[in-house]
Amino acid sequence: MKPEDEKSKIWFNGKFIDWWDAKIHVMSHVVHYGSSIFEGMRCYATRKGSAIFRLSDHIKRFYDSTKIYRMPIPFRPEEIEQACIDIVNVNQLKSAYIRPVVFRGYNTLGVDPTACPVEVAIAVLNWGAYLGEDAINNGVDVRVSSWNRMHPNTHPALAKTGANYMNSQLIKLEAKMDNYAEGIALSTHGFVCEGSGENIFLVRNDQIFTPTIGSSILPGITRDSVFKIAREFGYEVKETVIPREMLYIADELFFTGTAAEVSPIRSVDKISIGSGKRGPVTEKIQRRFFDIIETGDDDDYGWLTFVK
Ligand code: PMP
Repeated sequence: MKPEDEKSKIWFNGKFIDWWDAKIHVMSHVVHYGSSIFEGMRCYATRKGSAIFRLSDHIKRFYDSTKIYRMPIPFRPEEIEQACIDIVNVNQLKSAYIRPVVFRGYNTLGVDPTACPVEVAIAVLNWGAYLGEDAINNGVDVRVSSWNRMHPNTHPALAKTGANYMNSQLIKLEAKMDNYAEGIALSTHGFVCEGSGENIFLVRNDQIFTPTIGSSILPGITRDSVFKIAREFGYEVKETVIPREMLYIADELFFTGTAAEVSPIRSVDKISIGSGKRGPVTEKIQRRFFDIIETGDDDDYGWLTFVK
């Protein structure tokens, strides 16, 4: 957190309160059992004004996650969407990372969460390029993680829960320890899933591939945006099972995510990918993505919600 973040208001259970007043008790259910669900989205300072990228899609996924975990949010989706818009305006921000979180609060310590209140908070942060400024242009060096993504029917991957990020932390910590920017996790069957906080795409022989949503991945909003942008360039992204070794012989690889945006991968396990630089397909997709969020124009899909 930066000093300027700490000056901002947080929306907490329907009210705007000071940053340091947004507190919970250490005996809250979420602290002990990871019972939280969250979203992460960006508000961009486009040339036409500040706009949240794919707000309603993020809020849809937020409610989908809570449905899976029987954690009913005590607000309607429209109220949460409006609160996301309001939090940017209340804090007079032009651009921001917006973090809605819903969690089980204070009541009992039993595993059964039903007696614990469902609480909701929305905070905003100043957040630049997640994998570093250089990553967007020159790509990142990554490793295949020794940790697997969750087996299906254990921790459901389609739900964006706090607990799933314990797995992400193992992947990220291991990668950083070995001086890699990120780790790519395989499934328990040995197939490619995703990064600790990004989906992955592979280009080979002028075709684009990505793991299916049944491969223990988060159904990324940026991933879906890339499907649509790729189609504009005549590519139909193939959702398929990807064996590990396909990574090494890919012409291009890139990550997608709200935080990472579209970031090229230049090596995996010290094997250079393609030319070892950002490839032409990645660059085309990146350019179109950044055009939309920088200009605020040509938003053919209605992805931008202007906050004013
Ligand atoms: N996978 C994981 C594990 C993530 O944490 C994220 C980031 N939310 C993504 C993929 C990308 O999702 P999105 O494009 O919706 O940010």
